[in-house]
Amino acid sequence: MPYHEFDCSTCIPERKKHAVVKGPGETLADALPAGYLNTVPGSISERGCAYCGAKHVIGTPMKDVIHISHGPVGCTYDTWQTKRYISDNDNFQLKYTFATDMKEKHVIFGAEKLLKQNILEAFKAFPDIKRMSLYQTCASALIGDDINAIAQEVMDELPDVDIFVCNSPGFRGPSQSGGHHTICIAWFNDKVGTVEPEITSDYVINYVGEYNIQGDQEVMQDYFKRMGIQVLSTFTGNGSYDDLRAMHRAHLNVLECARSSEYLCNELRVKYGIPRLDIDGFGFEPLADSLRKVGLFFGIQDRAEEIIQAETARWKPELDWYKERLKGKKVCLWPGGSKLWHWARVIQDEMGVEVVSVYTKFGHQGDMEKGISRAGEGALAIDDPNELESLEAMYKLKPDCIFTGKRPGEFAKKIRVPYLNAHAYHNGPWKGFEGWVRFARDIYNAIYSPIHQLAMLDISNDEIPTDKGFVTRRILSDANLSDEIRNADNLRQYTGKFDIIPDLRNKTAEDFPYLRQDKLEKAI
Ligand code: SF4
Repeated sequence: MPYHEFDCSTCIPERKKHAVVKGPGETLADALPAGYLNTVPGSISERGCAYCGAKHVIGTPMKDVIHISHGPVGCTYDTWQTKRYISDNDNFQLKYTFATDMKEKHVIFGAEKLLKQNILEAFKAFPDIKRMSLYQTCASALIGDDINAIAQEVMDELPDVDIFVCNSPGFRGPSQSGGHHTICIAWFNDKVGTVEPEITSDYVINYVGEYNIQGDQEVMQDYFKRMGIQVLSTFTGNGSYDDLRAMHRAHLNVLECARSSEYLCNELRVKYGIPRLDIDGFGFEPLADSLRKVGLFFGIQDRAEEIIQAETARWKPELDWYKERLKGKKVCLWPGGSKLWHWARVIQDEMGVEVVSVYTKFGHQGDMEKGISRAGEGALAIDDPNELESLEAMYKLKPDCIFTGKRPGEFAKKIRVPYLNAHAYHNGPWKGFEGWVRFARDIYNAIYSPIHQLAMLDISNDEIPTDKGFVTRRILSDANLSDEIRNADNLRQYTGKFDIIPDLRNKTAEDFPYLRQDKLEKAI
């Protein structure tokens, strides 16, 4: 697995160790790109900072909380809204963001008074919200403002409020991943075990590392409810602050994004003995295996199997409709961290696409190891790429679509490569059986959109080409299919609704008896 040197980065020789090509028959032991290191000076990273990792990725999906940043307004603005982590309380945490808006005079004279005034104002403006998370930024950390002391002062004055303090300024770690670690440990140390929950089932889980992007958490919660499992808390998508203080009472931690929050599961295992089970909500096969594993843990495999059979029968013909039209398309899998290995194998197996490159912005070497092992031979693996390297890779690999964030996505569009937002999705949710079909449909829509062909016409010339008539996605995608597949009765396009979440919120699950409760009452 030789290291790959980008032409654009020959002036930064340290970058060479951050990219490799997976050669034929090579093992992971031959070479892995360096990972989770400080960005090499001279290379402009696409990473976020440790404050962003703590606040934007993990903290702010909590739904019944005022999220306030102590720092310049730019830090707050850039970590607001874009992830689309919706919630069932009318998206309170998405609608509002709060900042103390520090200026130069506060850097000189201190900003603790400003912080206290802002906290009190925020609680006054939203009297129904009694919970707050408070984030340190570079500026307030560098001048040494004691945000813990201010939070305590407010809690002493207002006994019905509770404030969580996260000391994760931007420079605390090489990337957003440092912030993930910090906030997990801070939540565990300061908040877990401070509320006692009501237990209503024999099977109780914390769902950890799930951020409810466009409703992912609500899709997965529906499966758990149908199995008679109580989801005590979700860390943190659509999660409630006080539910998350009660995490210590779960029987099992079901972990989705290990990169961002395995730290919390590990602490819960050490202190409270709660086992950790890693699962995967993306893809029919990985999701089916995950539901089976959870069912096996509690001895209710039959309930998992019933869901798997029903959902597969309903949605597989639609997944296969897209697979026939996506077969052989080349994609670059360029997400942040864990989707690298969640998706690398299953999109090839279940959608027929070929992963020609994997990259990660903040993943560790372990993420790269899993991603490379699941990608095909010849895949180019890149750690923490800069914009020029991404461009060079796209020109060389000529992908039909890339899955990445909006910064690289925007310049991909400029060179007419369609992109899907791997962080915030296009028309998600993408988890769950139906969600996986929605992902396939979004890839199909991106690749076959006629807009990319039209964009290649040079309309600055007087001579307008006349050989490009009216085309649709379907005309483009079906041009080379056999009649048998084109007209197959057993395949169909996605038939779900545009927005599937409102129906999920109105659904009621079967009422399974809570046996342990009966036993407790008899004993009393
Ligand atoms: S690096 Fe520092 S200043 Fe920049 S956004 Fe992050 S916390 Fe704010």
